[in-house]
Amino acid sequence: MRTAEIITVLSIAGLDPSAGAGLLADARVFSHYGLYGCGALTAVTAQNTSGVCQVYPLDAEQVYAQLESLSEDIRPVVTKIGMLATAAIAIEVAGFAGDAHLGQVVIDPVLTSTSGAALADKGLRDIIIDRLIPDCSLITPNLDEAKALTGIDIGDMETAGQAARAIADMGAAAVCVTGGHWQGRPTDLLLADGELLQIEGERGGGNNPFHGTGCFFSASVAACLAQGSGLVDSVRQSKALTARAIGSSVRPGRGMNVPWLSKALEP
Ligand code: PLP
Repeated sequence: MRTAEIITVLSIAGLDPSAGAGLLADARVFSHYGLYGCGALTAVTAQNTSGVCQVYPLDAEQVYAQLESLSEDIRPVVTKIGMLATAAIAIEVAGFAGDAHLGQVVIDPVLTSTSGAALADKGLRDIIIDRLIPDCSLITPNLDEAKALTGIDIGDMETAGQAARAIADMGAAAVCVTGGHWQGRPTDLLLADGELLQIEGERGGGNNPFHGTGCFFSASVAACLAQGSGLVDSVRQSKALTARAIGSSVRPGRGMNVPWLSKALEP
């Protein structure tokens, strides 16, 4: 009997014990697509659906060791990079991305949580810009992250476009400034092949705030790319899937809602 081959994807991210964000959330999205999801841990956080209490980054050498042993065995088609926590960890991850061990790279440049807690040390932003962005196929900053990366105060689509172009100038092959934090419609702005494309969405899911939507979206894009979809299709499909998961979100604790894919949903 031949063993079935399966498409592998990797998430390099933190542990959120409440499973709204980070590795556990990414694993849910990958398995929704029927992919084999691997994970390398960057940090343990103490958090729940109301917020982050503590962040305990791993030593950079512990992250290196995880990626080194994985690279001897499994080559992911796509790697999603989420919370890196420290500049030292990001430098190790960049070494693997530069050596093409990670396949295509999608970066969700996690710096702070929705609840306002810092999830990065002081030097991480600069390493993301200098070492990771030049090797990525796509980066998916939200409005705050795009501002943190570029210094551009984003208040409308024009300034969001300026920020996207500034990030492309840093070397990103494509940039998607996600629009979930706009006051009005949650329109994403995708810059690919020099063209800006607005990707519309509907706001749903009620008034309770959400935890883990950025992780969900970027993990979904990574999964679509791994399945062979083109970039624009992957972003459109992931925007739609994220909206559906927000629409069927759950509230597992006393805090924020978490995007959720009920069994009835197809990818
Ligand atoms: N914790 C971890 C491990 C994360 O990766 C992230 C975001 O990527 C967060 C917390 C914050 O998630 P949110 O801002 O959606 O609450």
